[in-house]
Amino acid sequence: MTATVIDGKAVAASVRESVAREVAELPVAPGLATVLVGDDPASSVYVRNKRRQCVAAGIRDLHRHLPADIGQHALATVIDELNADPTVTGILLQLPLPAHLDSAALIARIDPDKDVDGLTPISAGRLAQGHPGLRPCTPAGVMELLDAYRVPLEGSHAVVVGRSTLVGKPQAQLLLQRNATVTICHSRTRDLPAVCREADILIAAAGVPGLIGSAAVWPGATVIDVGIHRGADGLCGDVDYEQVRGVAGAITPVPGGVGPMTIAMLLRNTVHAARLRMRAVEASGAAS
Ligand code: NAP
Repeated sequence: MTATVIDGKAVAASVRESVAREVAELPVAPGLATVLVGDDPASSVYVRNKRRQCVAAGIRDLHRHLPADIGQHALATVIDELNADPTVTGILLQLPLPAHLDSAALIARIDPDKDVDGLTPISAGRLAQGHPGLRPCTPAGVMELLDAYRVPLEGSHAVVVGRSTLVGKPQAQLLLQRNATVTICHSRTRDLPAVCREADILIAAAGVPGLIGSAAVWPGATVIDVGIHRGADGLCGDVDYEQVRGVAGAITPVPGGVGPMTIAMLLRNTVHAARLRMRAVEASGAAS
């Protein structure tokens, strides 16, 4: 069997186009405040790409670049200002922050209705309890890929390898919400290949290059590779692509699979947050 290759670039392009259409229909363009602290080269590139794609979709770029030695209190004050600013409909605090800053406390300070990364404890709680809210971009992008390729979710067995707050846990919850039967694996899971072989849908988000080989994949399963690693031969994922594509029914490549979806879903979240804000303003107007 040769797997269908899930084309994340194409799906991401179609999400970006639909976001641009939605933005054009809004009475006021959404505004995204990316917050970059310091000059870490990788973070600078990520933020530049996010800003570029936002502008291309018609979203206003309200970027803030802050010095690497900014203090906890000063950064908290910037977040408070962005929370209060009606032109800012989405806030993204680029991680990792310099080591002297308490990232968890700063993320928790972001207004959950502007939390376009979906990482505040309130956003996580909304997801866990099945309430509407902003979802973390990477796992939301995985769901978009599964839907784009019409992978049946209801009743399917999904195995998620990884239990991080950023990917694994929200991924499992999003799948559960769609009535998949979900197993979560982690570094203490016994016989990982045997558990993975039970999966109709296998999502690898462990951060270990080549962790998933063909012995871990049931023939015909859908394999989504969230991992990204830069090696001597370029980028690779958590899945041994060459081995697994001969067994899987469908597979995401690295690069060109999950990666492009993350920024596309950030754009979608930014529009969603802008709509939430419009509704809140309308509701407060109607109540007064
Ligand atoms: P993380 O915070 O390091 O979490 C990794 C998870 O994998 C942990 O839960 C860990 O288990 C588990 N794990 C580690 N080694 C394992 C093993 N040998 N067997 C089974 N489970 C194992 O990483 P993350 O932030 O979730 O990211 C995961 C990967 O996705 C990374 O490669 C990252 O670069 C990539 N990523 C890609 C995107 C994208 O846009 N494509 C976005 C985010 C992340 P324990 O909890 O037991 O330690």
